[in-house]
Amino acid sequence: MRFSKLFAPTAKEAPKDAVLPSHIFLIRGGFISQTGSGLYNFLPLGKRVLDKIRNIVKEEMDNAGAQEISMGVVNPAELWQQSGRYEVYGKELLRFRDRKDNEFVLGPTHEEVVTDIVRNRVNSYKQLPLHLYQINTKFRDEARPRFGLLRGREFIMKDGYSFHASMEDLKREFDLMEKTYTQIFTRLGLDFRAVAADSGAIGGSGSKEFMVLAKNGEDDILVCDKCEYAANIEAAKREKKRTDTTPPKADFSKFHTPINASIEQLSEFFKVDAFYTIKAVIKKAVYKDRSEIVVFFVRGCDNLQEVKAKNTAKALELIEANEEEIKNAGLTAGFCGPIGLCDIKFFIDNELKEEKNLICGANERDYHYVGVSMFNFKDERYADLAEVKEGDLCPCCEGKLSLTKGIEVGHIFQLGQKYSSAMNAAFLDQNGKSQPFFMGCYGIGVSRLAAVIIEANHDEKGCIWNKQSAPYILDIIISNVKNEAGREFATKLYEDLIAQKKEVILDDRNERFGFKMNDFELIGFPYALIVGKEFDEGKVELVSRASGIKEFVDIDKLDERLKEVF
Ligand code: ATP
Ligand code: MG
Repeated sequence: MRFSKLFAPTAKEAPKDAVLPSHIFLIRGGFISQTGSGLYNFLPLGKRVLDKIRNIVKEEMDNAGAQEISMGVVNPAELWQQSGRYEVYGKELLRFRDRKDNEFVLGPTHEEVVTDIVRNRVNSYKQLPLHLYQINTKFRDEARPRFGLLRGREFIMKDGYSFHASMEDLKREFDLMEKTYTQIFTRLGLDFRAVAADSGAIGGSGSKEFMVLAKNGEDDILVCDKCEYAANIEAAKREKKRTDTTPPKADFSKFHTPINASIEQLSEFFKVDAFYTIKAVIKKAVYKDRSEIVVFFVRGCDNLQEVKAKNTAKALELIEANEEEIKNAGLTAGFCGPIGLCDIKFFIDNELKEEKNLICGANERDYHYVGVSMFNFKDERYADLAEVKEGDLCPCCEGKLSLTKGIEVGHIFQLGQKYSSAMNAAFLDQNGKSQPFFMGCYGIGVSRLAAVIIEANHDEKGCIWNKQSAPYILDIIISNVKNEAGREFATKLYEDLIAQKKEVILDDRNERFGFKMNDFELIGFPYALIVGKEFDEGKVELVSRASGIKEFVDIDKLDERLKEVF
């Protein structure tokens, strides 16, 4: 490509809402353009980056035995009604009608469509396993589209779906995908971790997220300093919390506590560690066609993890309950405790099970119970509810957990029979018995990756692509196009490299040298080769974008040096 012909509308300024480097540089470098909130076009440079990422993903998926297909973006609502997700998916699912008043959705993910493709076409265990994937457009009407390609509404995902005759075979594929993803993100040069994850709206059991460690990440992840354990905060576990402080030993009794009833005041009032108090978090759980007040109890020193709580209550969403709703539910805000609480849904954190010497609200204004023992609650009341914090101990090795930020680039799930059961997709097993397929699904944010690579590699001047993702690897800059000998040399070199199918661009624009260097740094090609003043002495200058190192190369040694570059 000749720069003089390239459509790369670079800009000095980024739009005001662009705060992250990836967003700023993708726009300023002319990689993408925006048409609306969370809606982007890929311009020539952006399209090349996207295609390179896509090719790496495709190569590794094909190597793992998956087959590429392409599914429609517009999906009949009926398929979503069959799986039961039409009602529960929420507002991210964009629904619309055609001229005949039929209902449709724009596919945010394709479990329903792929299950429909496979059902009645695959009938026997002999045709299994089968793994189909696509690299295609998704639409999610995100509540807060932001950060450019990191959270768009329309974006490109690699989504794969596998079908198996048994849970064991699904687990084998899941492990294979973990290896495949590791290979993909390693090839892209990313610093990432596979972490234990919550399964979210997609559902199913085992699930792992691939997180790129980045300070601008939206996800909180806990990482062990000793072993390999890493988990999203939404699913993180810890070694049960302990304390060395003295427990407030007392016989069970009701105590007058005229305080404003925050946990701090309560532990101050009784002069005890908040560890021994019970905190009540009152929420309104929203279900398909109703809502209900639910109380979650955790230790006073802990916080409620909302995603764990939402899953425990099997709710679509948890929202704040107002004073009126709390009162109507018969609760006394600030003095709510699990003892004697009836006619209300409540759950208790696992770590409180069979604990003694606790203090909790007495469900009466200005009163608390002391000397509380947690022996009388049914097992169903207990769940993992507490948010794991920095400094808590690792559930695997008791090392210290630390909190870091990550950006999710991939997610793999064991769906089991959730969709195949709901949608009547079954095969005949070895004994001739009909069984729903065992399914897995595996996603990678392909367009998000373009931004993630910049988040991980940039400086104040612009992007720093590596060879795996760069739009072009070498930028040959003619420092002064009026210098005929230099221009001819550069053009000949460019044509030779093109003939060798190298990813090279020739900056032949009639512009100042400084202007061309700024574009090189902003766009972030891995190398520039400057044909400048020293050309008359038989030398050209090779610049590495990542290290900033400049070296003069003799023209007769250039071929050899360029071999290392590509
Ligand atoms: P998030 O928690 O970031 O919203 P998710 O759990 O909704 O992600 P999945 O449904 O697992 O995401 O989708 C698979 C992959 O698609 C994600 O790992 C992510 O890389 C990418 N992805 C999801 N939502 C978006 C989006 N709005 N814009 C760009 N990429 C996305
Ligand atoms: Mg999401």
